[in-house]
Amino acid sequence: MINNSLKQLGAMLASKQISSVEMTTEFLDRIDQHNPDINAYIALDRERTLAQAAAADARIAAGTAEPLTGIPIAQKDIFVAKGWQTTCGSRMLESFIGPYDAGVIERFDAAGAVNLGKTNMDEFAMGSSNETSYFGCVKNPWDRSRVPGGSSGGSAAAVAARLCAAATGTDTGGSIRQPASLCGFSGLKPTYGLVSRYGMIAFASSLDQAGPMAKSCEDMALMMNVMTGFDARDSTSLQRDKEDYTRGLPAMTGDKPLAGLRVGLPREFFADGLNAQVGSVVQAAIDEYCKLGAEIVSISLPNTRLSIPVYYVLAPAEASSNLSRYDGVRYGHRAPEYTDLMDMYCKSRAQGFGAEVKRRILIGTYVLSAGYYDAYYLKAQQIRRLIADDFAAAFTQCDVIMGPTAPGTAFRSGEKADDPVAMYLEDLYTIAVNLAGLPGMSIPAGFAEVEGKALPVGLQVIGNYFDEARMLDIGHAYQQVTDWHTRMPEGV
Ligand code: GLN
Repeated sequence: MINNSLKQLGAMLASKQISSVEMTTEFLDRIDQHNPDINAYIALDRERTLAQAAAADARIAAGTAEPLTGIPIAQKDIFVAKGWQTTCGSRMLESFIGPYDAGVIERFDAAGAVNLGKTNMDEFAMGSSNETSYFGCVKNPWDRSRVPGGSSGGSAAAVAARLCAAATGTDTGGSIRQPASLCGFSGLKPTYGLVSRYGMIAFASSLDQAGPMAKSCEDMALMMNVMTGFDARDSTSLQRDKEDYTRGLPAMTGDKPLAGLRVGLPREFFADGLNAQVGSVVQAAIDEYCKLGAEIVSISLPNTRLSIPVYYVLAPAEASSNLSRYDGVRYGHRAPEYTDLMDMYCKSRAQGFGAEVKRRILIGTYVLSAGYYDAYYLKAQQIRRLIADDFAAAFTQCDVIMGPTAPGTAFRSGEKADDPVAMYLEDLYTIAVNLAGLPGMSIPAGFAEVEGKALPVGLQVIGNYFDEARMLDIGHAYQQVTDWHTRMPEGV
């Protein structure tokens, strides 16, 4: 059962082969068994979860079930959920209990999905390895001496180890796609504005976007149907007609089902910085697409080389502003001892935030300061526009863009922890997509042999705005002729 698709799980529930309480219990038992080592979950609440499963069973019995009713889904601990500990991976929020539900949580609840627990993450979603979490690192189920990627590392490990049927994540610069690549599953960052940010703890608001993390594109399409939609409580939420993301998924016909699809390969994504083994796995996936009828177009995204420096001006700038609310009064940890108000602020923030978060607040405050605003922040905004223009030009030549998701495979815990710049390079191919607000997806493309271990490699697919349904179809076509997405790590 644990390797079944969401559709198969839904069919098992509908036919009463299993109840949601039984299904949920099986996942909870697996979590009890494996989580002490993998550390994918920060908060679990068996009673609350099983109560939701029982309610789902009643709904199934009443004949009002929707596709995800009764299915256990893990939620990244960045989403405020009523009655649940909601920490964002930080000591700052260690004792925060959600007083309301985030838009995303509300939507899963309304669909009857079961909240299995809150997953571990880099502190305030800042990181690429899950090592900045106050609640400890997460282990990559494919090799427990390695990181799962980040910042959605807990959701990633939970999906890979089948400690949930699927999970949610958020992606500001790559946090859904890079862990999907490092842990061998499918992850999608939607077009900015499609999924509500209400109740999703803010890191860099102009870049943050939630999306599905699941085994397959078919599963992600079902989750997109639940997650997307206008929310008046998020000022950047987009008002659009409701889409059915599963509409193009039925089995392929003919041996060239993707005939006419123009796939752009950015020259800059296959240059220095890409691990050779990862490059050949990605190339093999692209060859598979050619067999399905796709044609290759060589494109250039000249300004994407500036995406990391631009991101590390803009994201910290937004973060420094967003995180000013954690002052020990309105929100967050308050130092137990202090002399006056200023001392209370200083001690509370010094104790509540970890090193990476402090680094970002310092950078952000600096680039926004009066003397430097034009030189850094304004300049970065201008280059952000040029990066978006590069994509706009590319999409006149091709329908989708493909390339690697991450420059390498999962690295060893601690390997990059003391070298922030090496860590920042993990998002070399993903960050430009956030800066442009485009949808990007990573799907399992095979394995690279590293020191005697087979480690997963992801293929990134970047689409034009609102092209998620087509991207999912394209991923689904590949997943019908390959079985990478069904592979499971040993020992779980
Ligand atoms: N790794 C990037 C960072 O540290 C992106 C994180 C994210 O997407 N949340 O900021």
